[in-house]
Amino acid sequence: MSKGLPLERLFDSHCHWDHAQLQALQPQLWQSCLQRGVNDLLVPATQAAHWLDLINLCQQHAHWHLALGLHPYYVDHHSREDLALLARLTESAQAVAVGEIGLDWHLPEPTWAAQEVLFMEQLSLAKQLNLPVILHVRKCHDRVIKILRQKKFNSGGFVHAYSGNVQQAQAYADLGFKLGVGGTITYARASKTRRVIAELPLTWLVLETDAPDMPMAHQSNRLNRPDDLPHVLDALTDIRTESRHLLAQQTTDNVRMVLGVA
Ligand SMILES: [Zn+2]
Repeated sequence: MSKGLPLERLFDSHCHWDHAQLQALQPQLWQSCLQRGVNDLLVPATQAAHWLDLINLCQQHAHWHLALGLHPYYVDHHSREDLALLARLTESAQAVAVGEIGLDWHLPEPTWAAQEVLFMEQLSLAKQLNLPVILHVRKCHDRVIKILRQKKFNSGGFVHAYSGNVQQAQAYADLGFKLGVGGTITYARASKTRRVIAELPLTWLVLETDAPDMPMAHQSNRLNRPDDLPHVLDALTDIRTESRHLLAQQTTDNVRMVLGVA
């Protein structure tokens, strides 16, 4: 589908670029990204133990954009000291976003209260530094939207791997958020998410791979990689009315707008 067409400039808005499985494929993997038009990566963090390596990695290339944060999935590993360090490093390393942060209600309910404390603290930090956030939200969009409103959080960000409905998407958009579109839409069986993504205004959408997690339909038995981002664009082109070129351009502009990067 993409053969013979001019190369698009794509921005992977969610790639765990520091993951050992991706770094083991370097430098060929980045060359392949560039050859396939994937020129920029937003790289979210998960745990304090990995922050320094992540900062060092992102300092190697102007198009590897750093975010720092404490992922809800590792709620049991995070500490108060991590939050203090996050505040310091986010400023000193000039991270462009706080993330990934959020709430995960797939995790056992006894963790939810601690997740929420962690989430609120990181939202406060982002608000104070006027930085966007990268949200990880599973099974609790309404709760997250309520918290964002209560906090009067107004620096926006991204809802990674968006899987909510149209009304929730509207609420996020009103709060300045863009919605991450990833490998899920490459699966025909993901009909609900495909329908929602097809309906939303294009100015709300950004592309992502979530590499090395969340494999796409054509490669479910191998590693997900950022140079596979054009497959997400192909799937988006299949379900929407706009041209592939316009979808590429607008989704890339949407990421840049939130991050304030040229
Ligand atoms: Zn992630």
